[in-house]
Amino acid sequence: MNSKQIPFNKPHLVGTEKDYISQALAFGQFSGQGPFAKKCSTWLEQLTGSKVFLTNSCTSALEMAAILLNIKPGDEVIMPSYTFTSTANAFVLRGAIPVFVDIRPDTLNIDEALIEASITKKTKAIVVVHYAGVACEMDSIMEIAARYRLFVVEDAAQGLLASYKGRPLGTIGHLGCYSFHETKNITSGGEGGALIINRSDWFERAQILIDKGTNRHQFFNGLVDKYTWVGLGSSYGMNELLAAFLWAQLEGSKDIMLRRMRLWEQYDFALKALEEASLLRRPIIPIERQHNAHIYYILLPSLEKRERLLEELKLVGIGATFHYVPLHSTPYGKKVARYDGNLLVTAEQSSRLLRLPLWVGLEDQQKIVLNALKNCLLS
Ligand SMILES: *Cc1c(COP(=O)(O)O)cnc(C)c1O
Repeated sequence: MNSKQIPFNKPHLVGTEKDYISQALAFGQFSGQGPFAKKCSTWLEQLTGSKVFLTNSCTSALEMAAILLNIKPGDEVIMPSYTFTSTANAFVLRGAIPVFVDIRPDTLNIDEALIEASITKKTKAIVVVHYAGVACEMDSIMEIAARYRLFVVEDAAQGLLASYKGRPLGTIGHLGCYSFHETKNITSGGEGGALIINRSDWFERAQILIDKGTNRHQFFNGLVDKYTWVGLGSSYGMNELLAAFLWAQLEGSKDIMLRRMRLWEQYDFALKALEEASLLRRPIIPIERQHNAHIYYILLPSLEKRERLLEELKLVGIGATFHYVPLHSTPYGKKVARYDGNLLVTAEQSSRLLRLPLWVGLEDQQKIVLNALKNCLLS
């Protein structure tokens, strides 16, 4: 990559990461709830008003969710096909069958009006994905879930600091999952995540789960005199060095969000004219929700036009990219999942979508991206 190239993503360092990691090294406790892990989970608990467990990825948080819901072989879990593999894998690992429902053409989130038709006696849960940090229609979804006694898991991997009717994403369903992967707005360095638990009767089970199936937590709190194997568990926790990195980012999150939001707004403003000329469609943010500038995408009129634009931007060194290959069309998705209807909107929108570079520090080069985009589309 030469210096003129503009990558799609570039992780942003707040500046205090190194200092905090040194402090964690000096303190010398690397696993369990070290001082930085405590700071991070307290911060997230204040944000969400829920119990929070830091995990080593959002994938792990989703796997914990599937175990907490007692997902069993043959259970069905409703979700969009337009998502990352982890949304489905977490449940397939428990033997469940993902049942894909089409997305809305406006937000690219699960189409709540189609959920009910896919519910069967085997349905256990609905997993919603807040694409690009724009909330799903949570009121309708929670209403359907209550009527059929289903659980709702929010894959809020992209949704930190975004909200629906004033409520943080991840706090509306029974469980919520955040990602701190380096491609997300706030990162713990390499990989990281959090599980948000909105039901108090699951705190204890989640603690055992993350403690590899032991009651170690009770032991450290002096509640039992030795710790032992008491349930299902695995290695899902975040280590202290990553928590130190994450703490720097959480402290800097206001600035990160402001800067991302400015870049997002700048794209949106600059591309209005191209939308009016029917050359592309911009993201649609319905009322009563606050997004978090995680992704700026455009929808081109066709797959051919999207592919051509991707190619042309690549030639001038701009790292634009497509997004999910719908899971129902993948080799493994065809084997383990099912879907009703034809998922036309999923196929259509995913083939037309292109994501533009969006990262803190892009400010100086955003004009170059916009000019290249205009040149390609207007030629
Ligand atoms: C990033 C992402 C994940 C996975 O997050 P990791 O922290 O990398 O495990 C899951 N679901 C969605 C929607 C994502 O965007």
